[in-house]
Amino acid sequence: MIKVLLLFSGGLDSMLTAKILQEQNIKIELLAFTSYFFNSNQAKQSAKILRKRVRIIDISKEHLKIVKNPRYCYGCGLNPCLDCHLLMIKKAKQILKKDKIDFIATGEILGQRPMSQNSRQFQILEKNAGLKNRVLRPLSARLLEPTIFEQKGSIDRKKLLAISGRSRKAQIALAKKYKIKIFPSPSGGCILTDPIFSQRLKDLFNHKKRINKNDIELLKVGRHFPANSAKIIIGRNHQENLQIKKMANKQDILMEIDKIPGPTTLIVIPAKTEIQYVILQKAGQLTKRYSTKAQKLSEVKIKYWRKNKKIKILSLRGVNVVIAE
Ligand code: SF4
Repeated sequence: MIKVLLLFSGGLDSMLTAKILQEQNIKIELLAFTSYFFNSNQAKQSAKILRKRVRIIDISKEHLKIVKNPRYCYGCGLNPCLDCHLLMIKKAKQILKKDKIDFIATGEILGQRPMSQNSRQFQILEKNAGLKNRVLRPLSARLLEPTIFEQKGSIDRKKLLAISGRSRKAQIALAKKYKIKIFPSPSGGCILTDPIFSQRLKDLFNHKKRINKNDIELLKVGRHFPANSAKIIIGRNHQENLQIKKMANKQDILMEIDKIPGPTTLIVIPAKTEIQYVILQKAGQLTKRYSTKAQKLSEVKIKYWRKNKKIKILSLRGVNVVIAE
């Protein structure tokens, strides 16, 4: 029996690809990836629906490198999709050899994403991965050059499809045919396509050389305000306030309004840098601005502290901050 490794995001296209391959009596194994910018939750859920196991590979560190310095171009945000696909295909290729799997398949559709899903990009990807005509895309296969598996007859090309473009009509009809009732929206789960997140990430790349997971997780929470070499992050809800407290490093400063409900603020300070009074003042004003109750008061007390260090108090009168302790 032919065995195929299917790159599985858990989206409808990859679920349909699994069904189409199974119809040809091909044994499929599912492979998904996780990184700092996307997770594998959807892949796990959709694999459950298909009653299949999914193998997950963490590519965080390698993926971060290509996000920082892609060989090809970015998409709408800081998403280097062609580099990212190439990384995934290369990882899949390593498994092929090790587990004696016959070939790789993906749920890609010709023309669905103009920058990364066109014939030229498919060719670049296969050439760079050393897999020329060896990646099967069952949903668009009949619009593409036949892979060697179709040429040899181990895959019946007539049973593959010729879907192209961004319309979802054909996929919705197929979902009905295969009785797939639950599937995610096609927006995808990669935060690199979010323009606000991409801008924050760009700033981080410009300000810090060695970036770790915590730095990236901080970009996903709160409102961000630049403050010279520091950054002020204000929690938008209780959940974010808790996250911010957890993620603070020992040199950073946390801030809250004393005895009045309001946000938790984090002042991210570069290592070996002293906090400037003007930044403390700006953070205090912002913390007050985002508390509905404190906004209305002419004077509030603000607590600020470093992790495991003594709490200090600022007294904030109008726009002037007076250090009380
Ligand atoms: S959107 Fe994100 S996960 Fe998807 S290919 Fe592009 S960089 Fe990779």
